[in-house]
Amino acid sequence: AFGVNVSVCEDCGCISVHYNSCRDRCCPMCQEFPKEKWVDARREDILDAPYFHVVFTVPEELNPIIYSNQKVLYTALYHATSDTLSELAADCKYLGTDIGYICILHTWGSTMNFHPHIHAIVLGGGLDVKNHWKDNGKDFFLPIKIISKTFRGKYMAELKQLWENDRLEFHGSAAPYKNYYTFKELLNTCYTKEWIPYCKKPFDGAESVIRYLGKYTHRIAISNYRIKGMTESTVTFSAKDYKNQGHWKEITLSGEEFIRRFLMHVPPKRFVRIRHYGLLSSRNKKKQIALCRNILGCKKYISKLKDMDAPAIIRLLYNKDICKCSSCGGKIIPLPTEQHFIKPKPHMLC
Ligand SMILES: [Zn+2]
Ligand SMILES: [Zn+2]
Ligand SMILES: [Zn+2]
Repeated sequence: AFGVNVSVCEDCGCISVHYNSCRDRCCPMCQEFPKEKWVDARREDILDAPYFHVVFTVPEELNPIIYSNQKVLYTALYHATSDTLSELAADCKYLGTDIGYICILHTWGSTMNFHPHIHAIVLGGGLDVKNHWKDNGKDFFLPIKIISKTFRGKYMAELKQLWENDRLEFHGSAAPYKNYYTFKELLNTCYTKEWIPYCKKPFDGAESVIRYLGKYTHRIAISNYRIKGMTESTVTFSAKDYKNQGHWKEITLSGEEFIRRFLMHVPPKRFVRIRHYGLLSSRNKKKQIALCRNILGCKKYISKLKDMDAPAIIRLLYNKDICKCSSCGGKIIPLPTEQHFIKPKPHMLC
């Protein structure tokens, strides 16, 4: 569908075919490049300081409403997360500084079920009013109970506001909540429930933050390696079984069900999934991060991939020269389009 480039080797006449990438941000195959470039650029703002990983989730009772109102209620997740983190960090009871963090929305659980949550990568320190660096060492600077309560309050307030302003829609499994009392009851249930955000094991230095970012940021629903097999009508993939201590198990679904689950996780059009806040927001980053770096005495990493084109990046990362013949190393030249006698095989696109 996206065409091919066919080239021929000047020396041995060997023909090579490169399929064009679809570049879709949901395509598990086409995200490798944007990911590498993005991660490489992020390295420039990583400091030698403590980083934490907090996951913000909502009670599953809200899933139908969220699925039916993805744009506004995903956005509300970012609002609640960032207001919680920024406000609490600025509170002198805790850290009393401006902090920085990156929020990434995931909408899937291990079986590609609908499970919206936000991963926040938090730089656990910042500058106080006198521009002094402050952090809490290896311990997270906020009690998780306080985070939980604050986050719940903020998310519910925005949800309620949207509801009162008639901004919510009720499709599919959300239809029963059109009823005033049913919705009211849902709000009550969610208010009384304990919300369980959790703080994962802190990152072990800047390098592990980078590795994490590379693994989780540019992914939708499932990575290719988890797909174990396919038949005419089914797909088998591995998933973590949380009822069994997180051991891996294999799940087989019909092709339609697999696609249905995958498509639930395509974000709304032009929706920004990775957002930067505080010290790490683009507005502040250059000046503030440079200041922090100086105060902390960290070396600056200079992006390697920023101005490189695709062949140069492939050469650097995979040590492979796509401008040379793969059989003899000779020079390859593009074959004129009218001589493209090879039809792309559908399963090889991207
Ligand atoms: Zn693709
Ligand atoms: Zn996740
Ligand atoms: Zn050759």
